[in-house]
Amino acid sequence: MADGTMPAWSVIEPGPVESGSLRLVEKPVPVPDDDELLVRVRACGVCRTDLHVTEGDLPVHRPGVTPGHEVVGVVAGFGRAVRGFDVGERVGVAWLRRTDGTCAYCARGAENLCPASRYTGWDADGGYAPYTTVPAAFAYRLPGDLDDVTLAPLLCAGIIGHRALRRAALPAGGRLGLYGFGGSAHLCAQVAMAEGAVVHVLTRGAAARKLALELGAASARDATEMPPEPLDSAILFAPVGELVPVALRALDRGGTLAIAGIHLSDVPALRYQTDLFYEKQLRSVTSNTREDGREFLALAAEHAVHATTHPYPLSRADEALRDLKAGRFDGAAVLVDDLS
Ligand SMILES: [Zn+2]
Ligand SMILES: [Zn+2]
Repeated sequence: MADGTMPAWSVIEPGPVESGSLRLVEKPVPVPDDDELLVRVRACGVCRTDLHVTEGDLPVHRPGVTPGHEVVGVVAGFGRAVRGFDVGERVGVAWLRRTDGTCAYCARGAENLCPASRYTGWDADGGYAPYTTVPAAFAYRLPGDLDDVTLAPLLCAGIIGHRALRRAALPAGGRLGLYGFGGSAHLCAQVAMAEGAVVHVLTRGAAARKLALELGAASARDATEMPPEPLDSAILFAPVGELVPVALRALDRGGTLAIAGIHLSDVPALRYQTDLFYEKQLRSVTSNTREDGREFLALAAEHAVHATTHPYPLSRADEALRDLKAGRFDGAAVLVDDLS
């Protein structure tokens, strides 16, 4: 198959995923550029950003794109400029695909802000297919003792959650609020608790609240309720702008709210006295650097971070996205190839 065509999911016309905007089509097996790896996909996590790409919440960057940027696979080939990788070696493919390496942001270690950055499953075809490609410099080497399905959600949900946790400036032993408790939050919570944080989860789903308590959260309440104590830091994972003032009011003086999503519905008007005064901080989180990724993968292995996963056959990727949208599972959906 590596020389011919393959079945691949494609965003034909962005729109509601229930309307068939994601279709299974036949595409050529990709050919890696000189500096790229060809990756045989073993597992691909389903991220909310895939839903945003499919439904048109994010503008089209590549017509007919194949989504998927939480790929665990093995190297099946590479371009002639690639050094240091072997065929058969396991690698991870994540959201950040390429930067220019030369701009002011890249120069100061903030490659996540690079204006020339490109993304897997948005600017280039991703992992909702049996094969994908990745620039070798942006492929992750993976810890050996975690299986493919468990590793996949770590590659975006995990890495972004980790950057959000760092952006939330949680003090040692501090009180952390997590608004929304899906794939990213449940991984972030585990690292935070392993590092000594007290975690309060605020989310609408009863199953997610149950999972939060099982993982060791100190409390789990509906997203519109106040946590049982003021928060030093909070992270908004739910793509719901209405929760920004709710989370800001739950912060203690000097607290920080980090917004983890790439897409957020409009934020309502904030009240300065209750929402921002006393030096509360509101921060966004934009993608991640490769250093964030390497740091998180090492922490995940050290703390035995466990992704709660729901495997779906690759042939039912559209169903996985519909279920994600409807909140029909907790943890993270992972596609496993049944098409080849
Ligand atoms: Zn740059
Ligand atoms: Zn993602």
